[in-house]
Amino acid sequence: MDLFFDSEQLALRRDIRSWVEKNLLAGKIDNSNIEQEALRLVRQLGREGFLRYVTPKNFGGVRECVQARDLSILREELARGSSLADTMFAMQALGSSPIIHAGSDQQKARYLPPIARGEAIAAFALTEPQAGSDVSSLETRAIKRGGEYRITGVKCFISNAGLAQTYVVFALTDPEKRAKGVSAFVVEADTPGLVLKEKTQLISPHPIGTIAFEECSVPEIQLLGREGEGMKIALTTLDHLRPTVGAAAVGLAQRALEEAIRYSQSRIQFGQALAKFQGTQFKVAEMATELEASRLLVYQAAWIIDRGQDNLRQKSSMAKLFATEAAQRIIDQALQIHGGLGVVVGTPVEQLYRDVRALRIYEGTSEIQKLIIARTLLANNKK
Ligand SMILES: Cc1cc2nc3c(=O)[nH]c(=O)nc-3n(C[C@H](O)[C@H](O)[C@H](O)COP(=O)(O)OP(=O)(O)OC[C@H]3O[C@@H](n4cnc5c(N)ncnc54)[C@H](O)[C@@H]3O)c2cc1C
Repeated sequence: MDLFFDSEQLALRRDIRSWVEKNLLAGKIDNSNIEQEALRLVRQLGREGFLRYVTPKNFGGVRECVQARDLSILREELARGSSLADTMFAMQALGSSPIIHAGSDQQKARYLPPIARGEAIAAFALTEPQAGSDVSSLETRAIKRGGEYRITGVKCFISNAGLAQTYVVFALTDPEKRAKGVSAFVVEADTPGLVLKEKTQLISPHPIGTIAFEECSVPEIQLLGREGEGMKIALTTLDHLRPTVGAAAVGLAQRALEEAIRYSQSRIQFGQALAKFQGTQFKVAEMATELEASRLLVYQAAWIIDRGQDNLRQKSSMAKLFATEAAQRIIDQALQIHGGLGVVVGTPVEQLYRDVRALRIYEGTSEIQKLIIARTLLANNKK
């Protein structure tokens, strides 16, 4: 696997792994108050310098440009320790990425450094009640009046809703142009008219909810890029970050494999450890092989992104699709190896079983990844 990494990345993996061992695997995560824990984790990741990988050097980061491999390494290792820690890291990247891709230097200087220090929490608001997979059907409107835009609409399933300071919001400035009439804005949490409507509880710890824009006035300098570029900004962000969702899936699956191996060597049935049965060995072999394939696809896609190759969309979708689907299968097998203990609330495999599920849905469902992959293949072979 090392062939994809430079020496800094190998060192980064060592650093984050040892931080996860000390701070997450040692059992210090409190899932009973998700928001408080989420906040604590962001602050800690900021202080430790890990959030600096989500932004470029000029704006508080470590590297000249953000590297998909750095983000993937960090998400893989964090997810192995705690799904909530991974989510909080991932959201700092998702909320920063549109600003990095399309923001002015002024916008970057204002918003990115506090996100990289863990002092500001970021959010990305695209999904709406009627616009999930079909993002081009979004209805939130931004109407220009004088030197400001007035935004009206509802966004649901927004990670960090009510917790974030910085929201990147997608809204229609020209409804007739549909997807080409979408624009992106940075909206600060204390802007009048930005209202938290609901907090949504998921099967795994994840701060998320619904926000509404009720005649929310945003100065025109908050527009990211130009009017009409919003959908391109959203899709570019997702293309660049999808392998990192696969990386998180790899981290969760890695943990499940470790738990399954450990348990199978200690649980005695029919006079011997489960690990001695060929049936268990076949499971472990299949889990490890799928995991290895996932990891290769994830880091290949991240490497392609870092090199700026033009096939990144297809590879990015393949990595997310395969790694998240494989992680679900791997974790299911790990749970099966644990027998009844696997479904007892609070055991690591039970938690992993709930943690992995959303990865096949957010940032484009598995079905949408298949559509993207097929479309790129068919477009490359036009008759
Ligand atoms: C944990 C979590 C965090 C999230 N965080 C954010 C966030 O921070 N910001 C944000 O904007 N959004 C966020 N989302 C929303 C997420 O991006 C959407 O849930 C996702 O895009 C799917 O949309 P939907 O839920 O409306 O499902 P729908 O689009 O209604 O899809 C329902 C089912 O139909 C399938 N389907 C839809 N269209 C097709 C098709 N053309 N062909 C075949 N099958 C199809 C889907 O694959 C899915 O299985 C989050 C979601 C989750 C679960």
